[in-house]
Amino acid sequence: MKAMVLTRMVDMEKEPAPLSPAEVPVPEPGLGEILLKVSRCGVCHTELDEIEGRTPPPRLPVIPGHQVVGRVVKKGKDARRYQEGDRLGVGWIYDACGQCSFCREGRENLCAAFRATGRDVDGGYGQYMTVPENHAHPIPGVFSDSEAAPLLCAGAIGYRSLALSGLRDGQNLGLTGFGASAHLVLRLARETHPRSSVFVFARSEKERDFAREIGAAWAGDTADTAPEKLHAVIDTTPAWKPVVEALRNLERGGRLVINAIRKDDRDREELLRVDYPEHLWMEKEIKSVANVTGEDIAAFLALAAEIPIRPTVEEFDLERANEALGELKNRKIRGAKVLKIP
Ligand SMILES: [Zn+2]
Ligand SMILES: [Zn+2]
Repeated sequence: MKAMVLTRMVDMEKEPAPLSPAEVPVPEPGLGEILLKVSRCGVCHTELDEIEGRTPPPRLPVIPGHQVVGRVVKKGKDARRYQEGDRLGVGWIYDACGQCSFCREGRENLCAAFRATGRDVDGGYGQYMTVPENHAHPIPGVFSDSEAAPLLCAGAIGYRSLALSGLRDGQNLGLTGFGASAHLVLRLARETHPRSSVFVFARSEKERDFAREIGAAWAGDTADTAPEKLHAVIDTTPAWKPVVEALRNLERGGRLVINAIRKDDRDREELLRVDYPEHLWMEKEIKSVANVTGEDIAAFLALAAEIPIRPTVEEFDLERANEALGELKNRKIRGAKVLKIP
């Protein structure tokens, strides 16, 4: 089968084409697993973190990709949940131990044995992939394959971030960074928190225009001051400056949720600007969001179908994966990027 593989970690500034086209064997589904013929795979900022070594894959080569839509073509032993032809999605969670206290409490995202699709095992930048059937999710009929792909990570983790923010209807929400996940959070929040206003911080005027177009009350640059204090802010940027600026814009008792698997430490010295009375006092909180649970994905897919929330997508052929990653790296973003798999 055809795949785009990561063979070694690189700095994308120096090597802008980190993935190589390869011909690899079609995997065999094991016990309780299914084989999917992949049709679409979303492109996520986490792929950049894998490629550049901030969250390194434990073995190379690896096929990246964790927003996978495909159809069942083969079932392994004891896989009974789905039938051949069923359309399913796979997100960042590939599996977890199922036994530890975190797994038993429904917090499998925090399991020490958490394995991520497209990092710890091969993902969706290829024609076929295997997955444990209990981590594959039926895709609601209202979505095309391309629309469904970004819902599986950008959407599901956005949903988890909004839940962790503790935002109540009528309170102000800030979003710093406006990529695939944030644009879905904006659409989600407009439905789940109809009396809340959303304030967007983004570096590029294009992203700010897009935010206003889809319902932001205000959009400014990363270091701007929002016209009102914010009860919660969700940060989806790779940098530290937006964290400091978000804390400054928080209302008393407000919470900043950092939705990033790793921060790029280039602007780490920004943290030295943190001034306790201005940025932290008055019971301001900082919380990170880690991974997703299967329940987050299932719940978000159902909610997204009911509303419905349709992502804005831009499609690339599989062999143009490096170009899509490069645009993400350079923050040429309008919605979500999705690979078409032949
Ligand atoms: Zn992702
Ligand atoms: Zn566990």
